Amino acid sequence: MTEPAHSSIDVQASCACGAVTMRITGRVGSMFMCACLHCQQATGTGHSAVALVAERYLTVTGQIGSFARQSASGASFSRNFCPCCATPLFGGSSRAPGICLVSAGFFAGNNSWFQPGQLIFARTRQGWDAIADHLPRHDTYRQETD
Ligand SMILES: [Zn+2]
Ligand SMILES: [Zn+2]
Repeated sequence: MTEPAHSSIDVQASCACGAVTMRITGRVGSMFMCACLHCQQATGTGHSAVALVAERYLTVTGQIGSFARQSASGASFSRNFCPCCATPLFGGSSRAPGICLVSAGFFAGNNSWFQPGQLIFARTRQGWDAIADHLPRHDTYRQETD
């Protein structure tokens, strides 16, 4: 599968309370949905919508809260959020330093640039969570096993 080349974007938004602002200026990498159990719990719905963005293209202002957990493989995965209003911001994995997993929903109202290319952790997707039929599905990760 080849993913389309994504052009540069320049988008900015603030969390619900306004304390944290994120801006992406540059090229967005892979975009995907993830239906793993952690994403279901963190988002309160059936899947997360994530865009991989190089750290140098992401500017975050304001104080952020963070929660890290160990995955089964030993990698550390963190989720960052506004400590005041709890809006999800971005995540990161110790396996991919320098890469931010940005929540597409943060840019609500200005995120038509989000074009997911795959669904990962399809094995835990629930039938009530509709995903476009054309989207390639992977039981877990596309390339690596966790
Ligand atoms: Zn906030
Ligand atoms: Zn997930």
